[in-house]
Formats: sequence, C-alpha cells, structure tokens
Amino acid sequence: MKLTILGSSGAFPGPGLATSGYLLEIDGHHLLIDCGSGVLSRMLEYIRLDQLEAIILTHLHSDHISDIGVLKYAMDLSRKAGQTIGNIPVYAPKTPEPLAASLESPGNFTLIPIADDHHFDLFGAQIHCFGTIHPFETCALRIEKDGRVFATTSDTIPCANLTPLLRQADLALLDAGSQEKLRTPVMVHMTAAECGTIAAQNDVKNMLLIHLLPFFNRAESILEARTAAGDSPTTIDLAEPGLTYTI
Ligand SMILES: [Zn+2]
Ligand SMILES: [Zn+2]
Repeated sequence: MKLTILGSSGAFPGPGLATSGYLLEIDGHHLLIDCGSGVLSRMLEYIRLDQLEAIILTHLHSDHISDIGVLKYAMDLSRKAGQTIGNIPVYAPKTPEPLAASLESPGNFTLIPIADDHHFDLFGAQIHCFGTIHPFETCALRIEKDGRVFATTSDTIPCANLTPLLRQADLALLDAGSQEKLRTPVMVHMTAAECGTIAAQNDVKNMLLIHLLPFFNRAESILEARTAAGDSPTTIDLAEPGLTYTI
C-alpha cells in the first residue's frame, strides 16, 4: 500500500493547504479517504479523475466532505466532454441523514453505509471500521493487506476502540486536533500528548499527527506527542501534504 497525504489541516485549510484527504493506493487501485476542502485539487496532482475507484468518508463533518460537491461537477462535466468516468462506491456513515442524503449522486456515486464494527474487502485489502467518540457518527479505519497495517483514527477523543484499531499498526494517523494547553472540559479531538500515549500503548510503529489547526505551533504538537510516547513509536511526524509512505 502507498499513502499520499493530500491534506491534513483540521477544521479549515491553512494557506495553500487542504483539510482531510488521504490517497491510498492498494495494488495499483486508488482509494480516497475523506474529501475535505481543497482535496480534489490536490488529488488531481497525483491521479486522473478516471483513476479514482472508491471513496471512504470517515464522517460527514464539512472538513471531511466539502469537496464531494465539486467532485460531482468534475465527474459530470468530464463525462459530458467524452471522458469515461465510472460510477464509484462511496462508503460513509448514514447519519446525520440529511447530510448523507446530500451525498446522493446517481451515476456518480453508489452510497454504501458503514458503521462501528463493519468490515469489508476492497482491492484485496481488509478494511475494518471502528466507531469513535465524536459529535457525528465517525468510523476510524484499520486497513490490512499482506500482513501490513495502516490505520487512521479520523476524529475522536480517547476511546476503547482505539486499541483494536491501532494495535501494532505499521503506520497510523492520529487526530491531534488539540494540545494540552487548550484542554477544555468537553473535548472532541485528542491532544498530541494523548496521541503519543495511545500510540505507545498499542505498539504503533510509525505515527503521523493529523488534524492540527492551521494556527497551531506545529513543533509544540510534535514535542508533546514525543514526550508522552517515550521511545515508541519509532517515528512521530506531522502528516505534511505531498508526503508519501509505503506501508
Ligand atoms: Zn469531525
Ligand atoms: Zn475534522
């Protein structure tokens, strides 16, 4: 598997950046995980529209789905111009229902509901969905292929499902949408320190922090995660757009 970071800004994109969007190549097939603001533009730097074969939306918050609308335009208009653009499966939670309904696009997307503990095969990989704790129904993803494991927490606070999700993952994306100094009584994202602790507890080999707000001091988030994680995992980095990882 090969992962390309298209965007990882939390909530809104920083200058020239994109919110959540991760292109995962599995045996030459292209899966897009989340389709946030600016992701379509970034994706088209790497693949043609007709090479996109499936989408998983981890949840329906705007920073994870806002480019779905312009993707529909791109598909319709490219088809009208004579390109062969197929219908693609879009795996997504079915709530909130009005938002799920807004994703419908006959001819472009076939919506397939996902939820906690769903699993399915895609391009020879096994995909397991784990529900997280977040204001909208959200699925973290563990994707296994030939003994290699990629995982993403999507948006969440610490919860029991993160253990089976992350256990011994070769590469994991963890929601560091907060920092310890920003802790409030009610949280909807993890702090970087929580990411470090949870990754170490679950023997994650390499971790990338995602969902940092654009105005965060990024070095602080890395330091916070490393201090909490100790020597494990081996690498802790930010999910910088344009980076690729072979898993
Ligand atoms: Zn969210
Ligand atoms: Zn988000």
